[in-house]
Amino acid sequence: MKISFSKNFESSDVWVLPFWEGPKEAADLPVPMTGVLDDFKGKNGETAFYYTAGQRFLLVGLGRQDKACVEALRKAYAAVVRAAVSKKLKKIEILFPKCKQKEEFLRGIAEGIFLTNYSFTYKHDTIKEDPPVLLEKVGFVGVEKLKLIDEVETVVNGVHFVRDLVNGNSDDKLETILKAAKKLHPKVKTTVFDKKRIEKEGMGLLLAVNRGSEVEPAFVQASYTGNPKSKGRVVLVGKGILYDTGGLSLKPTDNMLTMKCDMAGAATVLGVVKVAAELGLNVNVTAVMPLTENCIDGKSYKLGDVYRSYAKKTVEITNTDAEGRLVLADALAYSVKNLKPDTIIDLATLTGACVVALGDDISGLFSNNDDLAEELMQASEMSDELIWRMPVHSDYFENYKSEIADMVNSGSREGGAIKAALFLKEYVGEIPWAHLDIAGPAYIPKPKHYNPMKGTGHGLRLLIEFLKNRA
Ligand SMILES: [Zn+2]
Repeated sequence: MKISFSKNFESSDVWVLPFWEGPKEAADLPVPMTGVLDDFKGKNGETAFYYTAGQRFLLVGLGRQDKACVEALRKAYAAVVRAAVSKKLKKIEILFPKCKQKEEFLRGIAEGIFLTNYSFTYKHDTIKEDPPVLLEKVGFVGVEKLKLIDEVETVVNGVHFVRDLVNGNSDDKLETILKAAKKLHPKVKTTVFDKKRIEKEGMGLLLAVNRGSEVEPAFVQASYTGNPKSKGRVVLVGKGILYDTGGLSLKPTDNMLTMKCDMAGAATVLGVVKVAAELGLNVNVTAVMPLTENCIDGKSYKLGDVYRSYAKKTVEITNTDAEGRLVLADALAYSVKNLKPDTIIDLATLTGACVVALGDDISGLFSNNDDLAEELMQASEMSDELIWRMPVHSDYFENYKSEIADMVNSGSREGGAIKAALFLKEYVGEIPWAHLDIAGPAYIPKPKHYNPMKGTGHGLRLLIEFLKNRA
């Protein structure tokens, strides 16, 4: 998308005019517009087209001026993009609202536009004849170019990168992720373990989950060292279940429909490292991705059987659909032992229980460290990617008692998101660790504000804010 800055309107398909909620004067309008001021309230996200003197205008409501914030602007300008593309408009010019906080406003408006201007489709006629209409040119009028626009563009491109990986066909996912990981950025070093190497390392839980799949597993590490003088390193572990049938504990059809998204954690951590490198952040960060399908086959891993983890602990399988924690356990234990992290954060579409608790908008945050949890809450405030801290209540660990192994892999349903976090906690030792259960916001059934339906890329902007604060 082309972006420009100018003093006055030039030529475009539509001129976008901002309005605060509340009484408006005719003097607020650049040209007389009959009836507009009677109907248009200026509520956040309200839009209306108006045609006069051969020019098309789009009015956008920003909501109440005393409630102005970055997120309100994102939402308002998401509505602008949806209105414009519904009329197949490709070039828009935006009159910048009068304000003192130019950086904040430009960030909100630009993020709202760029995040919304996204499409993913496999429809055959979109390939040549009728490609999805997206904005191609956005002009900002009445504001000078600010440096942050480049950062906003880089970050949102990273979000689109994650969405593309999540929305792609499951059958293609391993290949696309590996291809992307290998050429992520010149400053990123990527290592891929194949099945043989995974066997040699002893990642018995990742191998157990993989047994029912025709596709061999992979274990990927992508490292960016932006601060070579520092020994500190943030390790981001992403759940990479390329498709989740539930295994022998087979999911019903309705629950399986969305399961191509079960690698959203992996896609997001990879996207974070890509963006961190592109922004040249002064941090060291590694994405770790255990990748496998959880499929069903004569060789599938079995309920009641016991498998040995990378950390040597043995796990009795009581539910093959609780596979995410298994692959994460091996990845976390490997990271702790080999990557010397000072902080470890995992991202996973882990439990339906978390969606029941917090819905589609909010991810669950679990941590063994208050300072780290606080840092993530601050990053959430900066990015408006919502997270809510949940307890890691150790009494519930009782649920994981096994008669024949060190633990079982699945407890009872009550507090399921907390119990899943407790399972992971067993594999991180004393290192400051946080777990983000992104099962709700990572993949949504219909568009909402600046998020498209399906893959949203949730978590990337949050983690970039977190890394920026660390840098
Ligand atoms: Zn599962």
